[in-house]
Amino acid sequence: MLRLKNQYNFMRPIQMVDLIAQYQSIKEAVNASVLQTIESGAFINGPAVQNFKASLESYLDVKHVIPCANGTDALQIALMALGLQPGDEVIVPAFTYVATAEVIALLRLKPIMVDVDPNTFNITAAIVKAALSPKTKAVVPVHLFGQSVDMQPLIELSEKHGFYLVEDNAQAIGADYIFDNGRRQKTGTLGHVGCTSFYPSKNLGAFGDGGALFTNDTDLAATLKKIASHGQSKRYYHDCIGVNSRLDSVQAAILDIKLKKLDHYAQARQSLANYYYQNLADITALTLPKVQPNSTHVYHQFTLKVSGGQRDALQQFLKEQGVPSMIYYPVPLQAQKAFLGLGNTLGLELPVTEQLCKEVLSLPMHTEMAADQSQYICDTIRAFFG
Ligand SMILES: *Cc1c(COP(=O)(O)O)cnc(C)c1O
Repeated sequence: MLRLKNQYNFMRPIQMVDLIAQYQSIKEAVNASVLQTIESGAFINGPAVQNFKASLESYLDVKHVIPCANGTDALQIALMALGLQPGDEVIVPAFTYVATAEVIALLRLKPIMVDVDPNTFNITAAIVKAALSPKTKAVVPVHLFGQSVDMQPLIELSEKHGFYLVEDNAQAIGADYIFDNGRRQKTGTLGHVGCTSFYPSKNLGAFGDGGALFTNDTDLAATLKKIASHGQSKRYYHDCIGVNSRLDSVQAAILDIKLKKLDHYAQARQSLANYYYQNLADITALTLPKVQPNSTHVYHQFTLKVSGGQRDALQQFLKEQGVPSMIYYPVPLQAQKAFLGLGNTLGLELPVTEQLCKEVLSLPMHTEMAADQSQYICDTIRAFFG
């Protein structure tokens, strides 16, 4: 039986991401830690930053974490550290957030945009292989929506052809890649360097901007750290051109508290995803996200494909019934005005990306969803399909 919004008036409004409700559950610890950081006066690179860096190194089991100001900076710093020359090619998925390709163009490198796998929304080794050229110097696997790219074949390809792997882990922090032999490793620590964002709505979100780089390579870590700090090896001695990109102490203090809950948050996302799977699986017009055996999924987004050209009508119906949803992403990168004329798809057609931009719809996904809310979301979707 159809019960729409007026029968759910006990429910608080549904949001894509409910940051306030999450804050309420950790308010005392966060407030105390923020106050302590302010009272310490160590606003830049204080103990809070060092503590968070150490906590994240241990959580990810990676030798070096280099905090920085945001995820876009992390990608830029990573590419600056690899000694690439203008015109060198960097392969990126066309189905991703603009930041991934923007920094490549900004550094006068050449973004080569490739298609993705229709089931995972991620690039594969086979897709990358078809786009390799003698100028390929790096590949940026994006672990989109919270699921790892199949890294093992990509690592093998990288070893064979000598390109760098710069992981964009902005959406998948906490996810495990599972090798064929069963060994697990955190996404972001599998390539030469990993990048992440602590934008508030990310799985590990600050109360403002933040980002970090990860690497197991000690020399590369020193270069990354130097570039993030004006190219300084020691104070007022500048070895190379760098940038100014720091994580605030106050954000680090908040992130250190939230990192302790990250696995718990991932479980909350997974149980909401399971509810969606259970309640939407039989709607034939919908294709639900597919979890691959070589990755855990931390559901930064729960992204459906809606067939039959009904995506926009479904979104409109949901909106009218008080259910927010988002289209990540509506335009393939190579079709964005900023990238027009760069000739950077090597003349390849990218049919999967084109199709996904027409079909994808991301449902509300966060750690504080109430049972009546998730039920209402599913009931409303079912009502649309009658
Ligand atoms: C959020 C995001 C970024 C950029 O992070 P910012 O902290 O906003 O600069 C880069 N890549 C992907 C895939 C993202 O989702």
